[in-house]
Amino acid sequence: MVLHIKDNINHGYEVELMTYRFELPELGSEATDGKLVARHVAHGDVVEEGDTILEVETSKSVSEISAPVDGRVSETHVETGDTVAVGDVVLTFERDVDAAGDEAAHSATVERDREGEDGPTPAVTRVTDTTSDDDSGTDANRVDPRETATGGDAADRPTPAVTRVSDDEPTADLSTGRLDGIPESTEVLVIGGGPGGYVAAIRAAQLGLEVTLVEKDALGGTCLNTGCIPSKALIHGAEIAHEATSAEALGITAEIETDLGQLVDWKDGVVDRLTGGVEGLAQANGVTLVDGTATFVDDHRAKVTTDDGKTAVDFEYAIIATGSRPLVLPGFEPQGDHVLYSSDVLDLDTAPDELLVIGAGYIGMELSMALTKLGTDITVVEMFDDVLPMYGDDISRLIRERATELGIEFRFGEAATEWTETDGGVVVTTEIEDGETTDIAADAVAVVTGRQPAADTVKPEAIGLEPTDDGFIETDAQGRTDRDHVLAVGDVAGEPMLAHKAMYEGEIAADAIAGEPAALDAAAVPAAVFTDPEIASVGLTSDEAEEAGYTPVVGRMPLGANGRALTMDTTDGFVRIVADAATERVLGAEIVAPNASELIGEVTVALEAGMDLEALAGTIHTHPTLSEAVMEAAADARGEAIHTQ
Ligand code: FAD
Repeated sequence: MVLHIKDNINHGYEVELMTYRFELPELGSEATDGKLVARHVAHGDVVEEGDTILEVETSKSVSEISAPVDGRVSETHVETGDTVAVGDVVLTFERDVDAAGDEAAHSATVERDREGEDGPTPAVTRVTDTTSDDDSGTDANRVDPRETATGGDAADRPTPAVTRVSDDEPTADLSTGRLDGIPESTEVLVIGGGPGGYVAAIRAAQLGLEVTLVEKDALGGTCLNTGCIPSKALIHGAEIAHEATSAEALGITAEIETDLGQLVDWKDGVVDRLTGGVEGLAQANGVTLVDGTATFVDDHRAKVTTDDGKTAVDFEYAIIATGSRPLVLPGFEPQGDHVLYSSDVLDLDTAPDELLVIGAGYIGMELSMALTKLGTDITVVEMFDDVLPMYGDDISRLIRERATELGIEFRFGEAATEWTETDGGVVVTTEIEDGETTDIAADAVAVVTGRQPAADTVKPEAIGLEPTDDGFIETDAQGRTDRDHVLAVGDVAGEPMLAHKAMYEGEIAADAIAGEPAALDAAAVPAAVFTDPEIASVGLTSDEAEEAGYTPVVGRMPLGANGRALTMDTTDGFVRIVADAATERVLGAEIVAPNASELIGEVTVALEAGMDLEALAGTIHTHPTLSEAVMEAAADARGEAIHTQ
């Protein structure tokens, strides 16, 4: 081994400045080169021996390369994205050592590591400080310690860099052989068949890519099976029941009977029709559908487990579309007929007489209002002091007052802490801030306290992906994760957790993989809550516009002044439009009205098209319609409203 040391005189004391030129060590799986997917150090960084400094991706794995010595990075020879070969010089380190003894000690360390005693030891080449007069510190004199220490015996080479594969996925366990209908490899592997996943799969197939979509439960995901669609079907049924019995003022009275079982059967029919449609569309576009669970094993390989066994599928690109799952409230784990989550509520075949609902967010309020209209006595327990805390006071108040009118009882500022089973159902204990508790009896308790991303189901760690503290997988504007060839869409990729956002991201991700110039650049994502009345919003509120540096101007149209609303006997609500005072460009809107979820589309288009108030206010709207309230609100923002002051 050639070791050159230069003596430097530095500020009057003598130091030895040693330079280590660090070559890429062996990678796992016999690969001779790979792509540098992460460089965790930059020029000037100080590292400790063993710190992870580089990540190199081969077709089979990602190798984490650790620092060979304590020192300072004096040169970086590679950039993220470069292809690097084993033996290439990738970094240079400098290290000050005690002139007398440290070098000897360090040599001993290197020798020990070479013997493989202490786990992974990357190749280290030490050369002299390049400022040395001694010309022996040139590349020609570099010697790979793998050769010098062992006489070049491959068996004694340093342990390769750490290769990440999923801890509990030994390769031998990966497959029980090929399974019918599951390809050995695919260009695009989509994991999860909800709105994000199935849209991504269909779009990718339309763009000519070979696509395999793996879904572990039911095609259509949460939205079609246990979320948007079934809840809206239930809400529709409940609304018919309610309207039939609340039109005395119009001279209409009726005695009605509701059969929740039949309503749920009808809802299931709607779900089947839609999920069947998704399956047909996917197949018609040539997507290979697999019933199974996919987990990452390696950078370009997933394990797919089905009822028939498990098998490996190699992929070029993967799209993670695994969605979200309900947050389980500690102490309120799902339990038969007693502790229900939203999907259980949507499958009830008889309406409980009394239901205690924990959570007054959007799912809690939608389900509570529907069930109360179907005859259930609802008590809502909420830790905050109002419903729908994501909306402003006037909107929360309007919905709370309407819910109260429908018979819903609220317990704000209370936390549900435990439950016990009784003969007739449950008793739930709630607690207020000062510790005082109350017991509330009901037939069952429904927990709707939020949802969390389901990134863990794919074992993201196997490909070096680390979800955020909130469990989301971070992506760039094309949906790419930290690993360029793996994209994430929908609920798992971040807020807002909404189906239309998932679909939009699914299309962008597929376009990005196909090389189209696609990016997430929607002006705004609308949101709707299907309460009574509905709430819908898009873009900025007045406060948000101000925070963003605009001088906002606000226009408002109360439903009480809208002819169509009066003919529908629903006058609670309004349209509020926010625009930039300087340019009159529309910045956002909030609508509380029947069919607000439909009305918001007009303002969303206005935002996307960069329209101003004049364009909205000057567009002829059909009379009599609720949409005239949008036009009037825009006119009001300009001080030109006809039907309101
Ligand atoms: P999901 O729809 O959750 O789909 C993910 C799929 O991935 C699931 O089918 C799951 O089984 C599968 N999966 C997970 N891990 C794996 C794996 N390892 N292998 C294979 N498959 C896997 N949004 C709206 O926009 N409007 C609404 O009105 C609305 N109402 C809702 C009402 C309720 C009661 C609920 C619960 C949600 C509602 N949502 C609504 C939210 C909406 O359902 C989600 O935003 C949407 O489903 C997200 O789509 P996604 O594709 O990201 O995930």
